[in-house]
Order: sequence, then C-alpha cells, then structure tokens
Amino acid sequence: MNPAGFDELGGIMADSDLLIIGAGISGLSMAHYAAAAGWNVLVLEQEHRVGGCLHSHRFTGALDGFWLELGAHSAFSSYGNLLEILESHHALSRLQPRAKVGFRLFTNGAVRRIPSQLAYSELLRAPFRLLGLIKTGRNIAEYYGHIVGPRNYAAVFEPAFSAVICQPADQFPADSLFNPRPRRRDIPRSFTLHGGLQSLADILAGSSGLRVESGQIVQNIQHSDGKFIVRTSSGDHTTHALCLATPVAVATRLLASEFPELASHLAEVGTATVETVGVAIPKSQLNLPLLAGLIGRNEPFFSVVFRDVMPDPAYRGFSFHFRPGMLDEAGKRDCITRVLGLPNDLLTLANTVRKNNQLPVLRVGHGERTQAIDRLLAKSRLALTGNYFAGIAIEDCVTRSQQEFLRLQQEAG
Ligand SMILES: Cc1cc2nc3c(=O)[nH]c(=O)nc-3n(C[C@H](O)[C@H](O)[C@H](O)COP(=O)(O)OP(=O)(O)OC[C@H]3O[C@@H](n4cnc5c(N)ncnc54)[C@H](O)[C@@H]3O)c2cc1C
Repeated sequence: MNPAGFDELGGIMADSDLLIIGAGISGLSMAHYAAAAGWNVLVLEQEHRVGGCLHSHRFTGALDGFWLELGAHSAFSSYGNLLEILESHHALSRLQPRAKVGFRLFTNGAVRRIPSQLAYSELLRAPFRLLGLIKTGRNIAEYYGHIVGPRNYAAVFEPAFSAVICQPADQFPADSLFNPRPRRRDIPRSFTLHGGLQSLADILAGSSGLRVESGQIVQNIQHSDGKFIVRTSSGDHTTHALCLATPVAVATRLLASEFPELASHLAEVGTATVETVGVAIPKSQLNLPLLAGLIGRNEPFFSVVFRDVMPDPAYRGFSFHFRPGMLDEAGKRDCITRVLGLPNDLLTLANTVRKNNQLPVLRVGHGERTQAIDRLLAKSRLALTGNYFAGIAIEDCVTRSQQEFLRLQQEAG
C-alpha cells in the first residue's frame, strides 16, 4: 500500500496517487491538500506558466520590474481557506495591502463618481425592500434590482456586478456572488502579494513534495479496472485518483467518452470569454485620477482595472476587460486610448499585453446541477474542482478543492 492507501494497480506502477489536470488556483489548492496528507501528487498544466486566471504579467526590457494583472486582482481577509494554505507555507508576511482608492463609472465618454449616478429617493427604500427577501432562486436582476430600484440598478449596480463577474450580470444567481465569510482581523481587508496574485500560484506550485509539469496538454482520459490513464502530447500517465481542475468546457470534453452522464451535466454550464488587454503607461503621460478601476456602462468593456492599488514610481497599469467579440484589435486600441486620453501611437508591442480568460456562466438552479454532479462523483476516485461550483471567487475554488480532497481521502480509506 502507498501513503494514500490505494492498492497497487494490478501490477502497473502508477505515476501518482493523484493526478491533477490544470494548475490554476483550483488545481494547486487541491495539490496542496493532497501533498500535505502525504500523497504523491502530479499536476499537469498546458501552459508554460502556472496560475490560470491568476496571471500577473511581469514586463521585461525598459519596463522591467513592472507588472499588472490580466486576471484576478484582489484577495480578501475573508478568504480563510486560502489564508490557511498561505500560512502553512509561511507566506502571510508576503501579503501586501492594496491602497484604498475607489472605483468610478466610465460612461458617455467621461469618468463619473458613483454617487453622482445614484437616485437617492429610490435608494432610501432599500432597507424595507430587503425585509424577507431571499437570495436563493433569484438572479441578480431580480434580487438586487428589487432592493436598489430599477433606475439605480440600470445606472450603477448592473454595470458594477457585470464588472465583478466579467459577464452580463442580470441572469447570474444572486447567491453565487458575495458569499458571506468571516474576516480575519490580522489580515489586510483587501490584499495582493509582491509581484501580484501570480505569486500565490508560484508559492503553491513551488512547494516541496509537489511535481508540476507545465507545457503538458491533456488530450484525453481513459478509465478501466479502477485506474485512470491520462494522455498528453508527450506521453501517458497512470494514476489511482484523478482530479480535473480546468475550465468547465475542458472538463466536459475530457469526460465525454468515459463519463458521459457527468459530461452532460457539465455541458449545461456555459462559458464566458473575457478579452483582456493590459497596458503600462509612464505616469507623466496621464491625467486620470488614481483609482482601483473604472466600471464601463454602455461601453465595450466590463471594467478597467488600475494598478494604482499598488503604486509604482514610474508607471501606471490598466487592464481592460473587454466584452467578447465586440471589437477587433484596432477597435480595442482606439477604445484604450480614448479612455486613457492618450495618442494611439503610445501603445506598442513592448507595453501592451493580451490574454483571454474563461469563466463559467452560472444560472439560477445551478445548486441542483452541482448536487447531481456530486451524486455521480460519490464513491469514485474522480474529483472535479473549479470555479463552477459555489461561485467564481478564488476562495470558492479553494473551498471546493478542500471538500473534494476530503471526499477522495475517504475513498482511499
Ligand atoms: C478578469 C478576471 C478577474 C477576476 N478577478 C477576481 C478577483 O479579483 N478576486 C477573485 O477572488 N476572483 C477573481 N476572478 C475569478 C478567479 O480568478 C477564477 O475563478 C479562478 O482563478 C479560477 O481558477 P481555476 O483554477 O478554477 O481555473 P483557471 O484559472 O482557468 O485554471 C485552469 C487551468 O487549467 C489549465 N488547462 C486547461 N485545459 C488544460 C488541458 N487540456 N491540459 C492541461 N491543463 C489545462 C489552464 O491552462 C489553466 O491553467 C477573476 C477572473 C477573471 C477572469
């Protein structure tokens, strides 16, 4: 018997007790829990970097030392499971508080303060409308639209929620956003790390007892006689237990032939692509106020996330999260220079970077779907983790990984 308690695979030596596909925060947190329990873990990642949506682009050349976020930008003192993992890596001292700068709206070609866009007469009634209102079973438009009133919802709240989830917010389940969690008082309320949230992934992937192989695209998986065979571009791996920690569309495709019922449930979850363009601009070229970001209303972008929360002496960084399929590259450049008030030729190959991320499109009733998925996973050595269970926040991913690892541990006896 190996440390995980699995029997030998009919004479075939397995590469690992647990093979994890995907080295985003879901896969890396799963790997953390398994490695901490003494399991032999292998993580396969298709990219040559780890992190997935935790992607802090670090510039080289003239901009050496400057970074900006192409995906997630904020973690919070309420991310208890994530913080526990960082604590076990002695990494809490690496947390950096984000500067307290606010968000504003960008609409009709101008930056507007959020209070100036609110209808206060409508807002005054909000506490009364909250009474007895239940989140579960309602989408964001129904729940928050009812609380803040239709004018406020359309002018401020719908654009703000869409900016948070990087997709149109109306039909997203209200209970999949802002899950209440206790805050840790010893941690900055909103934090990042030196070098950005990419450093979270780097810390986890670099931990001892963990093998992470990057540049490994998993092409298919087979399951027979209780073992999993995972085929990549450069060879096969055999494992006792398998965890898929990829975007939901990839998990659907990889499971389709061997686990068709599971795949059919996953196929019901849609995917939203976020087209992100990040730019680094010398401070001297800009007149914009210092901000955490801009929320787009009737704009081709959901949000523009500013690097001003971690000020740099020479540069400012801006990550435009564009609505998919609306603008070509030239259109995006025009939009960026229009919003930042810059001449078009300031955007060069050296200071501009692009990334597409994928997020799940959740809908009311998603809880029943995940329950059906969990029923199919029960008693198996197949695990699923990701941002398509309780919610899309980093902490939701870590919490799912923890639950799935505990289940696998029970299976292993
Ligand atoms: C623009 C943006 C802003 C966000 N902001 C925040 C925020 O501020 N705070 C917050 O809490 N959350 C935020 N989120 C949400 C959060 O970042 C994500 O939900 C979370 O990081 C997803 O992690 P994951 O590991 O589940 O998936 P991913 O990060 O997508 O990781 C999946 C990994 O699987 C790999 N993979 C895919 N297919 C294969 C294959 N065939 N073989 C091998 N590897 C494969 C991918 O390359 C990737 O590395 C944001 C998301 C986006 C896109």
